[in-house]
Amino acid sequence: MYISDLFKKDRTIFSFEVFPPKKTSSIETIYETLEGLSDLKPDFISVTYGAGGNRSDSKTCQIASDIQEKYGILSAAHLTCVYNTKEDIDFILKELKTHGIHNILALRGDINPEFPVKKDFKYASELVSYIKSHGDFHVSGACYPEGHGEAESLIDDIKNLRKKVEAGAEHLMSQLFFDNSHFYDFLEKARIAGIEVPIEAGIMPVVNKSQIERMVSMCGASLPVKFSKMMQKYEHQPEALRDAGIAYAIDQIVDLISNGVDGIHLYTMNNPYVAGKINDAVRSLL
Ligand code: FAD
Repeated sequence: MYISDLFKKDRTIFSFEVFPPKKTSSIETIYETLEGLSDLKPDFISVTYGAGGNRSDSKTCQIASDIQEKYGILSAAHLTCVYNTKEDIDFILKELKTHGIHNILALRGDINPEFPVKKDFKYASELVSYIKSHGDFHVSGACYPEGHGEAESLIDDIKNLRKKVEAGAEHLMSQLFFDNSHFYDFLEKARIAGIEVPIEAGIMPVVNKSQIERMVSMCGASLPVKFSKMMQKYEHQPEALRDAGIAYAIDQIVDLISNGVDGIHLYTMNNPYVAGKINDAVRSLL
């Protein structure tokens, strides 16, 4: 099944994202997470691909395969290109196909100035068209409600996003954001630019202080005053901070669903407790 088929139904799609365990942990640690998440019956689960990851140590394919085979849930494998050659991508596509994975989130990947990039792919759009011409895959792409950090402006970024869709991306998943007005503004501009594919809103429940510091430095999402006040008030009360972060994410999701968003992509941070609380609160609204 392809992810785009899900959007043919008249309801809001609810999907999850997980990441493979760190190199120092055993792959088994992910199965506890998947046990909990699969009970929540998301429409699909996507599995990240390590930044600068190489084809031989990536656990993405194995985990994406298990999500489908062991838990009966559709999966999507993330795949980045700036540190891969065409030969690497051919190898990975073959592996994905062998494991019955037909949905790929095609990404450029972040560039680490300490490591020179490979020359075969410069932008995600090049990976999208390469995948589309090399097999029977549904390809998704990433998008940025506040603009990608390297783009001159949101408009420039949307023009580039359009190239990614023209290259064959059939569905988009957004970067996380904490102010829904950024998403609505982006959505309006993207639609005016002729981008018609389904766009899922990326929501990350922030449940501890170190997470927010790391996330904001990595993705540059702006923090509304309401959110910062909440973080400040509860920064020394871990349980209250967790519950406030869950409530904030639920509030964002209820508003997004009420405004007719195509789907919600929940960055679960491999935490089934948090995903479960959000699922319980919004399931009847989807
Ligand atoms: P692109 O679409 O290539 O865009 C990158 C920049 O180039 C943008 O500024 C864009 O405006 C510009 N650009 C694009 N095309 C052109 C063009 N033709 N001419 C000029 N400029 C252009 N990273 C990982 O390492 N692993 C993951 O699993 C992962 N998962 C992610 C999931 C989601 C939902 C999101 C939103 C991000 C994810 N990332 C992941 C991070 C992503 O790799 C970075 O944000 C990266 O910096 C950009 O990737 P992209 O695919 O959006 O790149």
